[in-house]
Amino acid sequence: MLTPQQVHVVVLGGGAAGLFCAMIAAQRGRSVVVVDHARQLGEKIRISGGGRCNFTNLNSGANHYLSNNPRFTISALARFTPHHFMDLLSRHGIQYLEKGQGQLFCQGSAHQVVDMLIQECRQANVQLHPSSKIESVRRQGDYFLVKGDGFFWQCQSLVVATGGPSLPKLGASDYGMALARSFGLQVVPPRPGLVPLTFNDWSTSRFASLSGVSLQAAVSLGSHTYQDGLLFTHKGLSGPAILQISSHWHPGSPIQVNLLPGVELLFHLKEARRNNRGLLPTLSSHLPRRLVDILCQGQVPRLADMNDERLLALVQSIQQATFTPSGQQGYGKAEVTVGGVDTSQLSSKTMAVLTIPNLYFVGEVVDVTGELGGYNLQWAWSSGYAAGCHA
Ligand SMILES: Cc1cc2nc3c(=O)[nH]c(=O)nc-3n(C[C@H](O)[C@H](O)[C@H](O)COP(=O)(O)OP(=O)(O)OC[C@H]3O[C@@H](n4cnc5c(N)ncnc54)[C@H](O)[C@@H]3O)c2cc1C
Repeated sequence: MLTPQQVHVVVLGGGAAGLFCAMIAAQRGRSVVVVDHARQLGEKIRISGGGRCNFTNLNSGANHYLSNNPRFTISALARFTPHHFMDLLSRHGIQYLEKGQGQLFCQGSAHQVVDMLIQECRQANVQLHPSSKIESVRRQGDYFLVKGDGFFWQCQSLVVATGGPSLPKLGASDYGMALARSFGLQVVPPRPGLVPLTFNDWSTSRFASLSGVSLQAAVSLGSHTYQDGLLFTHKGLSGPAILQISSHWHPGSPIQVNLLPGVELLFHLKEARRNNRGLLPTLSSHLPRRLVDILCQGQVPRLADMNDERLLALVQSIQQATFTPSGQQGYGKAEVTVGGVDTSQLSSKTMAVLTIPNLYFVGEVVDVTGELGGYNLQWAWSSGYAAGCHA
């Protein structure tokens, strides 16, 4: 019978959270192995932030995370902050810049962040095993046994960092959530987040011809409002404001869209009517012309002929529009997975499972999902750090 190789820690998944956790644990003198089925480690980091890696957000705090218990994030975020990660980048000579709303990006390429993590792991003697298929994971006495294609390890601590199923073409899977269930843990049902929304019959709707048009908008659902870019696509709506709201969206819920936030449109239209200006030029000075044409539906009434009631109806169609998406574009287009391992079963200080000694879950596999803007990677670093200090 094959004898397992003994190590202190096995980390399943070599993405942002797994690599960071492995690095921290190994720096404490633990022998650490990272196993990942993808050919390259840290693939999502490489493509993050459009290739520039929006690696953190200076405003990171529990209010920017979705979870059944957003307060779960407080401890880990306080122990490993955006400034700690910035210090690490600076020690590696990696330059970064702020692009507004506290979002920090690499000045160069996202590859620098992956290279840095791999270099730190190698320096701390982490064994990295990409292209490695995990066949079985089980608990035996006080240890875990991890078996796969060409490896068999026995470890004291097992860290699950396999992320969520968003973007399967990069190796993403629901493995970690299935493993959690096999250990008897509850999983908040996962769904795609930060994902474009779709609409039935969009291609035949009056909005179909707007594909490619973008503008600033305020999009609301319940108590959540995001003001940012909105993009019309050939399937529906996208852009940062829509991606943000999509993480809160459930099938059947309507979303409210203000296509002209912060503008007193009714006032401007009344002014224009008084000054004998036309409707088209007035609307076009605030909105993209193609959108104005669609809103007026080919019939452009004279402003002088529009009474206050008609003006108000027009303003409402622009500033209080309601859309009910029929769906979203799925895990193939989603930047994150909402849901995951229920935080009520984990220690918020160490990410350890409360009922199973030395089993940890970190990163996106946990029911913690950040808003757009660097919050997800900060969660990967902070939760990875928390587990890395204890595993
Ligand atoms: C296009 C895109 C852009 C993004 N941009 C940003 C951004 O700029 N800023 C930001 O904060 N967030 C961004 N995100 C989100 C962020 O990348 C993730 O939240 C973060 O990478 C999650 O880290 P993780 O380590 O938990 O999971 P991942 O980074 O997904 O790592 C999980 C690892 O586990 C491996 N794995 C999965 N299943 C198995 C299995 N069965 N066996 C072995 N290995 C397995 C995977 O190959 C992967 O390497 C972006 C996401 C996408 C998709």
